[in-house]
Amino acid sequence: QENGVAGSSDTGVKVIVRMRPSSKNEEEGEIILQKTSGDSLSILGQRFTFDSVADAASTQADIFQLVGAPLVENCIAGFNSSVFAYGQTGSGKTYTIWGPSNALLEDESSSDQQGLTPRVFERLFFRITEEQNKHADKQLMYQCRCSFLEIYNEQITDLLDPAQRNLQIREDTKTGVYVENLTEESVSSIKDVTKLLKKGLSNRRTGATSINMESSRSHSVFTCVVESRCKSKDGLSSLKTSRINLVDLAGSERQKSTGAAGERLKEAGNINRSLSQLGNLINILAEVSQTGKQRHIPYRDSKLTFLLQESLGGNAKLAMVCAISPSESCKSETFSTLRFAKRAK
Ligand code: ADP
Ligand code: MG
Repeated sequence: QENGVAGSSDTGVKVIVRMRPSSKNEEEGEIILQKTSGDSLSILGQRFTFDSVADAASTQADIFQLVGAPLVENCIAGFNSSVFAYGQTGSGKTYTIWGPSNALLEDESSSDQQGLTPRVFERLFFRITEEQNKHADKQLMYQCRCSFLEIYNEQITDLLDPAQRNLQIREDTKTGVYVENLTEESVSSIKDVTKLLKKGLSNRRTGATSINMESSRSHSVFTCVVESRCKSKDGLSSLKTSRINLVDLAGSERQKSTGAAGERLKEAGNINRSLSQLGNLINILAEVSQTGKQRHIPYRDSKLTFLLQESLGGNAKLAMVCAISPSESCKSETFSTLRFAKRAK
């Protein structure tokens, strides 16, 4: 049986499924997943097809080639571009988006483990220099500003200044959607970016739950606004703006209400809701881009979709890395992630 949509397309969302290697405490016999081609996998006799499938043999550099390099090109071309990591806790979202923490410490021996974000900025700064040299006659100038926030229980915290909690999303006819009082730092080198990443990640919230000690129950969003200015022959200057968003989503596992009460119960509901709202929205966007039909797009249903409104619709480019574990014990969450990934096409 063939599930999913074959081939890749320029419209809609690029969906990549990434299977992490089995960990030490997972038995060989427990593995129920296999990559069957560059874009398909088989799980318990069922086949699924996506834009790409990455397995344990895929390196961080491979994932960068699949989603990071196109993201940078889209950004240089003036499109808002985002990468989301979706999947249950422990499936490899954080590893994919930021990389393991020792790789961020610029430890030479672990540089091949670097995640998407440092690789994206390395390429971005390289491309900016190239573009500036190419268009030196127009005095092309770039400026990059980064912010890093966390959405937890539908509340926004500034990860670069965690005293700033419960920040509000505002909309302005001129500047569009923005987060009031959010820290923005100018960056011009990979060092600047790494510094912000380290700072932000150390301020991230991890909650102790009955299932996972460090279950990630919040979405983390790293955003870079890239502005370019150039002078035309008549001396007028023009401005182009595009955004890059790198998003490590909350664990997609069904948040059980067992053992949860009060705030925990409300929090569980909010996490499930914001992920399913993101899924719905991506679904609607895919339908609109395929059929050209007008539909109401419910951006305001969650903080995450409201915040990313301008990076989701229109000409924006999206990629979703759906992370899965190869083991039997994760079977039902893996099926649930594969269904989510299929729906995004
Ligand atoms: P999540 O953020 O989805 O909860 P993590 O990214 O923290 O999951 O990954 C869980 C563990 O698996 C970490 O120890 C991480 O280093 C490891 N891991 C995940 N994906 C890979 C991979 N592709 N290669 C090697 N180790 C991985
Ligand atoms: Mg994580």
